Amino acid sequence: MTTGTDGRLLTLRQTLQDQAERHTDELARLTTHGTAADGMDPQTVAALVESTRQALADTTQALKRISDGSYGRCERCGVDIPVERLEILPHARFCVPCQQARRG
Ligand SMILES: [Zn+2]
Repeated sequence: MTTGTDGRLLTLRQTLQDQAERHTDELARLTTHGTAADGMDPQTVAALVESTRQALADTTQALKRISDGSYGRCERCGVDIPVERLEILPHARFCVPCQQARRG
């Protein structure tokens, strides 16, 4: 992170904390209350639990990177990820070219 992004970083951290809370609540709802009342089949619930777990893990890791100072750096090539990208995808771990390379 370069100088001048501190304020934005605080906002991003707040966003990530909110997301982590939401994912945690969602996970608790899916795993404890059961979902029979929602009319969802077990496979759908299992898929939702899995994707929510993954999202929570991504979010938690991003918060950890903020505290250890490595947040906002591409894990593959090491460049600073543009803050505009982070504002859209706060838990992004890769710059756009690296993300595309991973998908392709
Ligand atoms: Zn990269």
